[in-house]
Amino acid sequence: MEAFVHPPRQTADDGESGLRRAAGLATMVQRVAVAANEAASLEEAAAAALAAVSDFTGWPVGRLHLVDGAGALRPTSVWHPAVSVESAVDSTVDSAVDAAHPGADIDLAPVLTFPVLVGTEEVGALEFFGAGQLDDAAELDAVLGILGAQLGRVVERERAAVASRRNEELNREIIATAHDSFISLDASGRVTEWNRQAETQFGWTREDVLGEVLADLIIPPEDREAHTRGIQRYLEAGHATNDGHAPNCIGSVLGQRVELEAVDRSGRRFPIEMTAWAVHDGDHVVFHAFIQDITLRKAVERDLEHRSMHDPLTGLANRGLLIDRLSAALEQTGATGTPLALLFVDLDRFKNVNDSLGHDAGDRVLVAVADRVAGALREDDTLARLSGDEFVVLRPATATPEEAVELANRILAQLEEPFLVRDTEAYVSASIGIALASDATVSAEKLLADADLAMYRAKERGKGVLELFDVALRIRLTDRIETERELRRGIEDGELVAYYQPLIDLGSRRVVGVEALVRWQHPRRGLLLPDSFIPMAEETGLVNRVGDWMLREACRQMKQWQAELADPPSWVAVNLSVRQVERPGLVDTVTGLLAEYGLEPGQLLLEITESAIMRDAQAGIERLWRLRELGVRISIDDFGTGYSSLNRLRRLPVDSLKVDRSFVADMFVSTGGTALVEAVITMSHSFGLRVVAEGVETVEQLRELFRLGCDEVQGYLLSRPIPPERLGALCGPVLAAEVDQQLNGERPRQPAPS
Ligand code: C2E
Ligand code: CA
Ligand code: CA
Repeated sequence: MEAFVHPPRQTADDGESGLRRAAGLATMVQRVAVAANEAASLEEAAAAALAAVSDFTGWPVGRLHLVDGAGALRPTSVWHPAVSVESAVDSTVDSAVDAAHPGADIDLAPVLTFPVLVGTEEVGALEFFGAGQLDDAAELDAVLGILGAQLGRVVERERAAVASRRNEELNREIIATAHDSFISLDASGRVTEWNRQAETQFGWTREDVLGEVLADLIIPPEDREAHTRGIQRYLEAGHATNDGHAPNCIGSVLGQRVELEAVDRSGRRFPIEMTAWAVHDGDHVVFHAFIQDITLRKAVERDLEHRSMHDPLTGLANRGLLIDRLSAALEQTGATGTPLALLFVDLDRFKNVNDSLGHDAGDRVLVAVADRVAGALREDDTLARLSGDEFVVLRPATATPEEAVELANRILAQLEEPFLVRDTEAYVSASIGIALASDATVSAEKLLADADLAMYRAKERGKGVLELFDVALRIRLTDRIETERELRRGIEDGELVAYYQPLIDLGSRRVVGVEALVRWQHPRRGLLLPDSFIPMAEETGLVNRVGDWMLREACRQMKQWQAELADPPSWVAVNLSVRQVERPGLVDTVTGLLAEYGLEPGQLLLEITESAIMRDAQAGIERLWRLRELGVRISIDDFGTGYSSLNRLRRLPVDSLKVDRSFVADMFVSTGGTALVEAVITMSHSFGLRVVAEGVETVEQLRELFRLGCDEVQGYLLSRPIPPERLGALCGPVLAAEVDQQLNGERPRQPAPS
């Protein structure tokens, strides 16, 4: 709204009154300025301004109008002169005049109105009433803009105050409901603010802590002094400092997000994240901090870190963590000279567990193995799982190599008892390679590789054994390739030899069959046992050539015995490797040989290891069925070392079951050993299978096996494997009489199946 000045009243003008008027004008502006500065509200300032303008102009009445929410200008009860509160609402120009000039009768009309402005925004107006026109309106006109703007400043100030009040309320609300603790401190370190979350987090109520020294409440005792010193140093320096020694003090953490430790009322310590800052207000400093309990986050972080360093299945250290620890242990060894030992533990034929029982069961066995191995360890040992069935033990300080060997033996002992998986007892043995280091010249990776090599050598020597790494080992491994070439040549040159070990039927006491066992008559190394070349041949596939040779040789020999001996064995047993069973030509090969040597199918027995037959090779099993239907005998070898589901066993094309010699060896050694053999015999008989015990070395074992109803026995007690020409001497009444005498009136408790 433009200032509207009614036509001025004509008055005489002289120099003196001009000066007086200029002074009056200045006084008026001054009064309004002071009122605008000091008034608490626009109403208060407007009342002063109305009075000042009235005094200057002589207009008797003025009134404040304010712009309402809809933008319309509305009269207020702020009058000059002031009217009583009671009459303010319905007051009129007349009542205002009456208040100022009681009894006077003055006829008034609006003479001037000017706006109250905040910037260009009109927020109100002052209206004046007078009896006549002002004669020097031009002067007044010049200052009306100033007056309006000065009153506008009051509105601005009011608005700012409201806004800041709202802000403050909002801040309070935010602080009160924050998920973080909010704490304020004064310069002496005393608490001035403590929100609800702080109450929950630290267990102290606001009332408890206001005015208390924060350090005594939530800072761990050992950090308190540093905290107090930190505040002190901050106040002296006037800015954040970092003395590097005391991370847990406010002086060094201001303006940063830091992780610290805090304690609550109960004394519980927990990790926190704190963001602290200082606010300066004149000479005062206030410290504020948001604090978050990061126990959970820390736990998740630890979990993630743990995952990255551990094997998820067993929870053991993984390769990365092992290498870390090994490197650290090697450094330690370099410093102290105390040797360390690394044991590479590889489970024997573990693939069979997975193949026959499934991966879930395999996983469970691995977890159980980890548990048992851990049971043999010391606190400071590290047990890691590298992959599949490979475990590694690091013993950081090992007094002697013997101690490492003893540890390996303890681990092997831990694995002796079977693992019970899905009602099946799974036997797990391991081969262990040991590498020792007594200085830091070897790298972690290299030492691990050494232990791995030693483990391979242990495997070569047979399962369930341990081996110390030595330099000669690496040379031996390169020898392997040489050995393979040698074996090929040896087969060509006819260096394979067949030995035979008799099997005695405990009912008739007769040599009912013989098992063909291969030997290698090496030109330089002498007569080699199968364990020194069969595993290698299995790996390279050469075992097929060995097997082919043995099948033919056994058939040929059988034919020869039938021609030569009065009481030849009823059948000859030949060991088949998995690879042979998996070959499609097996049935043709066997039928071809039987025909070639004129043998009855029942005069050949094929021994297949339990783990081989339990592999899910359906084709292989069908092949065995076809052979069995032809009349060829089939026996499960090394029974008890694989992981047969017994129920599945009865659906396999099998005539007999050969209990592994470790069971026989165990009979009088471990408690329950005899009961176990008895259970196998009972179960096999219920399936209609004959039971053979191998590895019978003592009379005691022989008698017990007989008593338990075992059908056939084989072992050093009766005869070692022998060259074929010596069999004749055993196949007569001599061996039978010997067995008779050894059994010495023993009677079987169970009859054999007919
Ligand atoms: P196997 O099939 O379990 O053969 C029985 C092994 O036990 C033979 O070892 C035999 O000498 C040994 N043995 C017999 N009685 C006793 C005893 O009372 N005490 C002890 N401690 N041992 C006894 P060998 O001849 O060294 O054969 C070892 C393994 O080599 C055989 O175990 C078999 O798995 C494998 N093998 C032997 N010949 C052949 C073959 O022609 N083909 C295949 N694929 N593997 C064969
Ligand atoms: Ca065998
Ligand atoms: Ca066997």
